[in-house]
Amino acid sequence: MSVKTRFAPSPTGSLHVGGARTALFSWLYARHNNGEFVLRIEDTDRERSTDASLQAILDGMSWLGLNYDGEPVYQTQRFARYTEVIEQLMSEQHAYRCYCSKERLAELRTTQQANKEKPRYDGHCRDLDLPHRDEPYVIRFRNPTEGGVTFDDQVYGSVTIQNSELDDLIIQRSDGTPTYNLTVVVDDWDMEITHVVRGDDHINNTPRQINILKALGAELPVYAHLPMILGPDGKRLSKRHGAVSVVQYRDDGYLPHAMMNYLVRLGWSHGDQELFSLNEMIDSFDLNSVSKGAASFNQEKLQWINQHYIKASEPEDIVAALKYNFKNLNVDLNNGPALTDVIKTQGERCKTLLEMAEKSRYFYEDFDVYDEKAARKNLKPTAIPYLEHVISLLDAMPAWDESNMHQVIIETAEHFEVGMGKVAQPLRVALTGDAISPSIDVTLFLVGRERANQRIKNAIDFIMGATNKT
Ligand code: GLU
Repeated sequence: MSVKTRFAPSPTGSLHVGGARTALFSWLYARHNNGEFVLRIEDTDRERSTDASLQAILDGMSWLGLNYDGEPVYQTQRFARYTEVIEQLMSEQHAYRCYCSKERLAELRTTQQANKEKPRYDGHCRDLDLPHRDEPYVIRFRNPTEGGVTFDDQVYGSVTIQNSELDDLIIQRSDGTPTYNLTVVVDDWDMEITHVVRGDDHINNTPRQINILKALGAELPVYAHLPMILGPDGKRLSKRHGAVSVVQYRDDGYLPHAMMNYLVRLGWSHGDQELFSLNEMIDSFDLNSVSKGAASFNQEKLQWINQHYIKASEPEDIVAALKYNFKNLNVDLNNGPALTDVIKTQGERCKTLLEMAEKSRYFYEDFDVYDEKAARKNLKPTAIPYLEHVISLLDAMPAWDESNMHQVIIETAEHFEVGMGKVAQPLRVALTGDAISPSIDVTLFLVGRERANQRIKNAIDFIMGATNKT
């Protein structure tokens, strides 16, 4: 049997961390088994579904590299098929029209609540065999009343629900539209899904869906319900916990593979391994090793993984991601060093690529002001001769070569018989506006010949201006 899994998001919001984890596990299971992974857009809730959400979900998946096989299936394009299946269920007595008014159902609920019973439909229209009347009605599935439904959940183990716990579910609303449980069943059946991997918020729907599948004579898929993800406060992960949309992490400077590696460990483990290449994930993934307990989201760990991959990646492999973060800061990259050189220099120092872009702006564009404290401490009249000396050595340098930069600092320090820091710190503030940067020779090299010259002159002017004022 070849494996076929699906991811079935409702386009009512962006792809959040929980949804991305579900998609990833479903994708990994398919890829591990050389099966197929398909995308189904559950867009039947027309009021809440938007094109923007759909786009955000597709963007999130493509950013992570969760590629799906074939074209996405849209539920809104399948209404005729749902109607056909509902008619089949009707003609085989597996479904019936229910004319119960809202008032009757509300009254029923009130009575049940007063008697401390679980609110459920009482089957009033089930056996009336009502002729079709010209009144609003819904169609309900005739759920078996005897026995139970048992399924072997790949995560939770054997789950049994008694049919007496389940009532007759509405499968078609009074406006003629099918409901969630019906559409999912028809689609899983038609798409020949072998493994349904989804959040455990759907586990209560599963026995109902199994009963409908059985009534249709369909083969049952295997189910795997993934435990929920909690925020650091132990509550279900939500917007309150910061960025939950995965593309927000792209904008915050995370590498897609770091996100994938973080997500795969949310509820799944393989020994005590923390870092996985894509192939390792695919090779080792199995639904049986998903833990039953809720997973908790830990921003610091995500950051640690991101930093690891920033350091471990070949600079060429993360250039595009860094470029994206620079673009969001409106930095023009046309005039400045190669991004691979920036990555080599800053890679050890940054937890995210956004941080790297922010800390590397001065390689590409001039800054407006010096950091006040850095300037006060370092841009003083005593620094002027050092800075002038540096300019003259740089001017005399035949080629702008990284290996020569160190020599310029040493020669200047020796010339004035001062420590290297006395030269390097004013120079650093002159070049970057701040007292912190990568090593001074690399900084000098990356700022480039023209900019370095101009900025050192600006710093001298700044010191003289400040001196004249006092
Ligand atoms: N559309 C459902 C959701 O977004 C998923 C349904 C399913 O996976 O069966 O929660």
